[in-house]
Amino acid sequence: MRGGEPLRVAIAGSGPAAMFAADELLTVPGARVDVFERLTVPYGLARTGVAPDHPNTRRVADLFDRISAQDGFRLFHGVEVGRDVTHEELLEHHHAVIYAVGASSDRRLDVPGADLAGTATEFVAWYNGHPDHAHRTFDLSHRRAVIVGNGNVALDVARILASDPARLAGTDIAPAALDALRGSRIEEIVVAGRRGPAQSAFTVAELRGLLDTPGIDVAVEGADPAAEPDDASPPHSTVHKLRMLRELDGRAPSGNGNRRIVLRYLASPERITDEGVEFARTELVDGRAVPTGESEVVAAGLVLSSIGYRGRPVPGLPFDAATGTVPNLAGRVGTGEPVAGAYVAGWIKRGPTGFIGTNKSCARETVRTLVDDFNEHRLPAPPASPEALDRLLRSRREVPQPA
Ligand SMILES: Cc1cc2nc3c(=O)[nH]c(=O)nc-3n(C[C@H](O)[C@H](O)[C@H](O)COP(=O)(O)OP(=O)(O)OC[C@H]3O[C@@H](n4cnc5c(N)ncnc54)[C@H](O)[C@@H]3O)c2cc1C
Repeated sequence: MRGGEPLRVAIAGSGPAAMFAADELLTVPGARVDVFERLTVPYGLARTGVAPDHPNTRRVADLFDRISAQDGFRLFHGVEVGRDVTHEELLEHHHAVIYAVGASSDRRLDVPGADLAGTATEFVAWYNGHPDHAHRTFDLSHRRAVIVGNGNVALDVARILASDPARLAGTDIAPAALDALRGSRIEEIVVAGRRGPAQSAFTVAELRGLLDTPGIDVAVEGADPAAEPDDASPPHSTVHKLRMLRELDGRAPSGNGNRRIVLRYLASPERITDEGVEFARTELVDGRAVPTGESEVVAAGLVLSSIGYRGRPVPGLPFDAATGTVPNLAGRVGTGEPVAGAYVAGWIKRGPTGFIGTNKSCARETVRTLVDDFNEHRLPAPPASPEALDRLLRSRREVPQPA
């Protein structure tokens, strides 16, 4: 409250960063928060990214439901900021707009035949029933799949492909994906990394989760996890990871019909063909993967790249194409002259890294900056009423009423 004037904020997106920002804003007495989500389902990757067989993580949606139920909170779904309503229009009704729009595009492989590969992003969206990807199909008819990249998302996808469908049946997985996985002929999933075991991008917790999943064999191939890492004093997490990978080195199939995940190292994709992936064998030189001159074709039906997410430009805001983020200072958009009333939080602010919880401190920083600007009279009072916003949105298109 500023001299009796309640703070009014619009948030674009309803993922973790948006919901944590809303929660923080609603601690300001009298504050009102309008959240605009382009999809018909809220909560971003907490719903459309987190794997269906990780129910404890997905339970964060219950927390977001409680935040949504607070006085002063409204959610407009099916409204895309920039398309259905502009930044300037939102500022007619709010002191500020926080963009928490995530990083919705993929980094793409830059090799011949890359178009023949799908992306882990699409595959994840498909098994989670994301409305934009619900009708996709994937080739599950071949005995081997290859995933290029070895971060947590790659392990999620490998685990879902390797899981007994009966285990997935009790989860939130999209019914069409479960049906397709029931007919899958995939027996082996190769998860390929250009560098060595010490540079694996997945976390210890994700690897532990994979090893604890029943009915899946996991093996390491292509590099020796017992070799000393380049780094003289590697972080504790790397030491722990290497210890776990050593146990899996060259492990033979258990022979009891389990599907197998092979963590393949020192393999850089050179070309993708209808037959599979041609990999250049690499060696590590000063931490970089350098081709040795040898290559190998790994036959596969399904090929997915999983080499990271990327933010898209937001209409009217500056954009750093190198990092895929909106330049900002502690959440306020712009590094020189700020863009009037514009703030960012979450992956579009700091890039596609970190857990759901990381967005909480990120959103808190943004909200602190915004509330300071409000208290210091740097955010002019919006001329129009909240009711006028409802009328504006109704006039634009048939949008659902706030929940
Ligand atoms: C496949 C995958 C699995 C993951 N699994 C885990 C996990 O198990 N545990 C964990 O802690 N973290 C996990 N993460 C990380 C976590 O999901 C992210 O840290 C978090 O979702 C980022 O939050 P965000 O709000 O910035 O973006 P997002 O979650 O992407 O939310 C952005 C939202 O904005 C909406 N939007 C975009 N543009 C507009 C617009 N113009 N107008 C209106 N709405 C718009 C989008 O539809 C979306 O709902 C995972 C990430 C991925 C990709």
